[in-house]
Amino acid sequence: MSDAKIEISGLRKSFGELEVLSGVDQRVEAGEVVCVIGPSGSGKSTFLRCVNLLEQPTSGRIVVDGVELTDPDADIDAARTRIGMVFQQFNLFSHLSVLRNLTVAQRKVLGRDKRRAEETARENLRRVGLADKENATPAQLSGGQQQRVGIARSLSMDPDVMLFDEPTSALDPELVGDVLDVMRGLADEGMTMLVVTHEMQFAREVADRVLFMDGGDIVEQGSPAEVIGDPQRERTRNFLARVL
Ligand code: ADP
Ligand code: MG
Repeated sequence: MSDAKIEISGLRKSFGELEVLSGVDQRVEAGEVVCVIGPSGSGKSTFLRCVNLLEQPTSGRIVVDGVELTDPDADIDAARTRIGMVFQQFNLFSHLSVLRNLTVAQRKVLGRDKRRAEETARENLRRVGLADKENATPAQLSGGQQQRVGIARSLSMDPDVMLFDEPTSALDPELVGDVLDVMRGLADEGMTMLVVTHEMQFAREVADRVLFMDGGDIVEQGSPAEVIGDPQRERTRNFLARVL
């Protein structure tokens, strides 16, 4: 077997009567960047949330870095620390400094001592271009800076995989570019990334593969040039005509 970082097979998720994911199969290789596009309500967030078991799949198998998360005996908490997740909302602790925001989980969840946690935090603040903001509180930062702090916080847990759910959707347009640049940098460093995004230009430039989701299925997938540049399915074409 090759070095798949994420293996998803037969993933189904229903909320009551509503089937939101109707049997998704995917392999994401180490270092691969996969962008997920599709209309609102198509199941993109649910798909991402199932990958780290924030949502319990109705059925199917999720394996991340060789650990089957859907195994009832799996240590989900341990496995989940290896999966970074960045949401549209930054969810920072507003009363804590940027540095403290980055050290809390390292100390609580990974048991790192203060010095080690702060070293790692500073290294990741440099990585997102915010080395000079460690003493600021979130309210003193722009939305784009807050999202970069959110990314640095995830990176401080040394994840194997990063999941992004519309990380720039809540930002003013002029702040989107800095966040995308940080994500581009991570992709260049070889991070394995699954990214739900409406930023088609980013998907075109950075994704190795694009998945188009509609109605709980992956309707079309391939390189950005294929899916965004030359879509074969009518549903994909209709969606792109609305967003491009
Ligand atoms: P997307 O991210 O593509 O907009 P979502 O995964 O958020 O789509 O939602 C897909 C469908 O699942 C929507 O119809 C949504 O209303 C429904 N849904 C999502 N989460 C829940 C939930 N916790 N309970 C019930 N329905 C949900
Ligand atoms: Mg969503």
